[in-house]
Amino acid sequence: MIQCKNCGGNVKFDIKSQKMFCSYCDTYYDPYEFEENEADAEEHVVNDPNAFMIDDTANQGSYMTTIYTCPECAGEIISDENEAATFCTFCGASTVLASRICKSKRPSSIIPFKITKDECKELYRQRMKKAIYAPAEYKDEKYLDSFRGIYMPYWVYDSSQYNYVQLKGKKTYRRGDYKYEETYDIDFNLDAEYNGISYDASSSFADSISGAIAPYDHSKAVKFTPAFFSGFYADTTDVQSDVYAPDVENIVNNSTTDEIEKQPNVKSISIKYPVTGKSAIFNTNVRCKEESMYPVWFVSHRFGDRVTYATVNGYTGKIAADIPIDLKKYILGSLIVAIPIFILLSLFPLIVPRVALYIATIVSVFGFITVLVESKSVKNKDSNIGDKGMLDKVVNNDDDIPKNYNIYAIVTYIISIVIGVIVVFSKPVFDGYYYGAVILELIASILCFLVVIYNYNLLSTRKLPQFKRTGGDDRA
Ligand SMILES: [Zn+2]
Ligand SMILES: [Zn+2]
Repeated sequence: MIQCKNCGGNVKFDIKSQKMFCSYCDTYYDPYEFEENEADAEEHVVNDPNAFMIDDTANQGSYMTTIYTCPECAGEIISDENEAATFCTFCGASTVLASRICKSKRPSSIIPFKITKDECKELYRQRMKKAIYAPAEYKDEKYLDSFRGIYMPYWVYDSSQYNYVQLKGKKTYRRGDYKYEETYDIDFNLDAEYNGISYDASSSFADSISGAIAPYDHSKAVKFTPAFFSGFYADTTDVQSDVYAPDVENIVNNSTTDEIEKQPNVKSISIKYPVTGKSAIFNTNVRCKEESMYPVWFVSHRFGDRVTYATVNGYTGKIAADIPIDLKKYILGSLIVAIPIFILLSLFPLIVPRVALYIATIVSVFGFITVLVESKSVKNKDSNIGDKGMLDKVVNNDDDIPKNYNIYAIVTYIISIVIGVIVVFSKPVFDGYYYGAVILELIASILCFLVVIYNYNLLSTRKLPQFKRTGGDDRA
């Protein structure tokens, strides 16, 4: 807790004024005024041998803080707030979190919150106006009140490319009966600098979320001091800085390639890059410059045995929210749309049974394809494919894979379509056969529809997290 120099009250960071504020005696302070409070601020922490920091000044020692650990998912969060102990940010469990006071490594910089909690709630409210099928609890004031301001750690990278680059290019064209091929030698001095490319450094913060609320403008970062955390939470850093170095390398190599190919004199030439890779010819250097804290408004909520997150970029206000569908609301909504269509159709009794069968077939084919497409993306999301930070630290339990109902929908669909085809080709005189096939296909469609909603809700929710902890503070 940071104490007021006047009255001893709890001083918190005030977003509107960007200053520290004591609500007991109405006094504002500069955040850096509390710098000396930390007795061990000068202590030097030995660099992690796996991290490749450019200089040691990036490491400005450590500070004392409280880390809360969730007994259910092992998620960890830093806070000096007492209310931190009531529920877990990551799995949404209402539980008593275990706390321990420990020394945390200082980040180098921080982008302070700019969006206030009220602004965050208003942005979220606007977003939810469009989500008509969302369960009511997602629009509840209690839900909105549980938004927490969390600082997420990011690794910030710089990259440079200085080299004399020699490339080969080719241009082929046809004129009359002749085919021409021209080859080119492309030489130039490359001198490129990239600054402030960032990746989230916490395994508990899914890359899909940090990607969705990106970007953060690192030039808005200021020097870190622990006072900024007062009134907020912070996530712990547990992903090594070298994890994302290959991604940074790719980004800068591709960006430089785009820049080269945009040049007017090489536009029509197809350039060949050597098999040794672009990093070698561009002489790409990637350095992790520092660890920085970026602001996120964050709320988690249990949905059945799964969890949903809503996040708002604390600087830009960009929103990313998992919004499941309330099945009852959805069926009701669909009926309201379907009943007028049904009445309209019944006014035209000219629809022959054969046409009805065609329509039913089209509907069920559509449902079938949707089931297939969605089932694939659920699998990818739950196994955290494409999330390097998470793959590193999250336990992937194969036994808690959600139930898959696709097979029932698919089997019913195939049976119904086979019967439909038989009916169409055997051209029965009795209309009842057509109607029978139509009803069967509609049942298959309804089944597909239910499976689609079920799959949609799997996609818009997350498996309860389970973090691996090696014990001890990863930051210290
Ligand atoms: Zn005061
Ligand atoms: Zn938890």
